[in-house]
Amino acid sequence: MLNINNLHVKLEEEDKVILKGVNLNIGPGEVHAIMGPNGSGKSTLSYVLSGRDGYEVTDGSASLEGAELLEMEPEERAAAGLFLAFQYPVEIPGVGNMTFLRTALNAQRKARGEEELSAGDFLKLVREKAKTLKIDADMLKRPVNVGFSGGEKKRNEILQMAVLEPKMCILDETDSGLDVDAMKLVSDGVNALRDGKRSFLVITHYQRLLDHIKPDVVHIMAAGRIIKTGGPELALEVENNGYADLLAEVQ
Ligand code: ADP
Ligand code: MG
Ligand code: MG
Repeated sequence: MLNINNLHVKLEEEDKVILKGVNLNIGPGEVHAIMGPNGSGKSTLSYVLSGRDGYEVTDGSASLEGAELLEMEPEERAAAGLFLAFQYPVEIPGVGNMTFLRTALNAQRKARGEEELSAGDFLKLVREKAKTLKIDADMLKRPVNVGFSGGEKKRNEILQMAVLEPKMCILDETDSGLDVDAMKLVSDGVNALRDGKRSFLVITHYQRLLDHIKPDVVHIMAAGRIIKTGGPELALEVENNGYADLLAEVQ
């Protein structure tokens, strides 16, 4: 599904290299987690995959189902099935949540050469998804993320994911902002969207989120590289011993 090969990334504005040869292969239906100390490049990886400005890829490649991602515009990546739940979801005053979702979905359908959904069909779809995810219909009418609590923003992210039906979901969570309820929301949402084909990359600083979202594979990232890959037990090892032992191993 997602194949990242020897990815090197620097900041566009300064000579600061952030990713120093990242390799990652996520198969269909797999859930991978990336953990690692602050500043190791986890968020940068998700930003580069989504096509955010400010980064320069100096070497390597990344593909989604064989299609080269790094040459696509951000909208093309979304249409190809990539979804990134942002660390700090943006507020869009004046744009209703429904309108935002419908515009996003129809833009993706159009880019794939599919017919746009009518207002009625969209309403039906979004109500059905909201119901499954136990999301209050009121939230659909409010401006995107404006005045949403942390939990509501998370709920909204999950709803976006459910409506857009991406193939590859990337969730970058600064767990500091996730209380127990929000964590349960995110994990229930992710688990509800797991269907054996859709893949997930869950970026997290702490192990506790992975108690709820059982990953197939856990990667440890440090200083711009993946330094260790293992099963769920690797997350527990980090929880118990911190990163120091792992960092020492690779030095
Ligand atoms: P993580 O998500 O693992 O905490 P980040 O990807 O946010 O790490 O950051 C990796 C490193 O790159 C850090 O040292 C950070 O300060 C630096 N960095 C990332 N983006 C920028 C930027 N736009 N300007 C300056 N430094 C940046
Ligand atoms: Mg950070
Ligand atoms: Mg980060």
